Amino acid sequence: MAGLPYIVGNWKMNGTRAMLNEARAIDRAAARFPKVQVGLAPPATLLFRMRDAVELIGVGGQDCHASENGAYTGNVSALMLKDAGADFTIVGHSERRDYHRESDADVKAKAEAALSAGLSVILCIGETEAQRDAGHAEAVVTAQLEGSCPRMDGAPDKLSIAYEPIWAIGTGRVPSVEDVAAMHKAIRTRLVAIYGESCVDVRILYGGSVKAENAAELLAVPDVDGALVGGASLTAESFLSIVGAAA
Ligand code: PEP
Repeated sequence: MAGLPYIVGNWKMNGTRAMLNEARAIDRAAARFPKVQVGLAPPATLLFRMRDAVELIGVGGQDCHASENGAYTGNVSALMLKDAGADFTIVGHSERRDYHRESDADVKAKAEAALSAGLSVILCIGETEAQRDAGHAEAVVTAQLEGSCPRMDGAPDKLSIAYEPIWAIGTGRVPSVEDVAAMHKAIRTRLVAIYGESCVDVRILYGGSVKAENAAELLAVPDVDGALVGGASLTAESFLSIVGAAA
């Protein structure tokens, strides 16, 4: 792994102004963990305020549109996220792929728009339970990677991949450490095939029911360079225990 372990909280559609207190507490505590890179992705409505409320941690979007602007009611562009103070954006989360029918090509276009806007990208991929049970997990995930990875001119450190088995998101279930290790290795190998050796700087995060109790074990797996955390990022106490496990 190049760079620091990266722990990112995805607040999804949770959080009004009162929750900025959690972000402030996380930011203050981040000073105790200088060897961990920490980010939070609040709902778009909180991005600007969170940017003002924190100093040490990164803030990011949960999605972006591939166009800079236009007649796309309800959407937010990468340029707008950047303008609101974002450092990064998540793209291709399974909830977007599923509920909003986003294809690999859509995700790729979003990732490219985000990079052009000067944002770092966390690109999510992951298999369903049925795909894993059928023995297709690795083929599905590497095909998603192939189809959604952005064209990049240098700066591979601007890209992180989040491997998130869909059946592990919000369920309390996690794959075995052997399965996580095998998938992250397969992702690393495919990244080398796509980008060449320079992609050693691309961090591969694990996501799906990461909690205080399992964080240390998951973060110790080879090729796991950090975590994307949903439910356990909503309070400073639970999120910081994961950050602490990465330190
Ligand atoms: C996610 O949705 O990105 C996620 C990892 O959620 P949770 O941690 O709640 O499983």
